[in-house]
Amino acid sequence: MERLQKIMAQAGVASRRKCEQLITEGRVRVNGDVIRELGYKADPQCDRIEVDGLAIAREEHVYFLLYKPTGYITSVTDPQGRRTVLDLMKGVGARIYPVGRLDYDTSGLLLLTNDGEFANYITHPRYELDKVYEAVVRGRIDDVALRKLREGIMLEDGMTAPAEAECLASDARRGTSTLRLTIHEGRNRQVRRMCEAVGHPVMQLTRVRLGFLTLAGLKEGEYRVLTAAEVEKLH
Ligand code: URA
Repeated sequence: MERLQKIMAQAGVASRRKCEQLITEGRVRVNGDVIRELGYKADPQCDRIEVDGLAIAREEHVYFLLYKPTGYITSVTDPQGRRTVLDLMKGVGARIYPVGRLDYDTSGLLLLTNDGEFANYITHPRYELDKVYEAVVRGRIDDVALRKLREGIMLEDGMTAPAEAECLASDARRGTSTLRLTIHEGRNRQVRRMCEAVGHPVMQLTRVRLGFLTLAGLKEGEYRVLTAAEVEKLH
C-alpha cells in the first residue's frame, strides 16, 4: 500500500505536489469513491484510481530471480548505508522488494517482486516451499550431527522441523565439510544456527534452490525474469 499522491506521481499524472492538490479538490476516486484525504493509502496494482474520471495505468506485477552475491543486504534501504540487493536490479523500473531474506554473508537464490500477496504467500511457513542450501562448515561432519540436523534441533526460538541433510564432501586439509540442507521454515539465520548447534559453524552459505527454481544459467549478481509458467506454478 502506498500513499495515493505517490502512486499518482509515479504513474506520471503530475508532480507529487500537484497530485495532492488534485486529491484535495476531490478530483480523484479510488474504486469509485472520491478521496480527499492526503494520508489515504491505496494498492497501486489492484485499486482502480481515476483522475477526473480517467483511470491511471495500474502497475503490472513483475517477478525476478536474482543470484545474490555476499556483501548485499536483503532490504530496500539500509540505515547503515550498506549496498542492498536493489543496487543489483538497476534496470528494473517497478518498485520491487525482496521475498524473504538472505543474510548479508549468504549468497544464492532470491526472488523479488512488487506483488505483495505473492510475497506473503511464498514466505508463509504453511506453503512449505523447499529451501535448499549448500553450506561449507568447519570440521568433519559425522553421522551423529547429520542425524540431529535431520531430526530437528532445539534453538532458542524452539525446535526446528525435520530437515534433509547430507554431506557432499569433506576436505581433510582445510578441515571443512560441505553440506546440503533442505528446510521448509525461514527463521532468522536458521541454517547458521542449526549448524552451530551441532558444533559445525558455517563458513560459507548459498541458497541453491527454492521449490523447483534453481540458479541455472545465472552468475553471481545476475538476475532473470520468472516466466509466466513459473509464476503460475508457484501460486
Ligand atoms: N539460513 C541462514 O542462516 N542464513 C540465510 O541467509 C538463510 C538461511
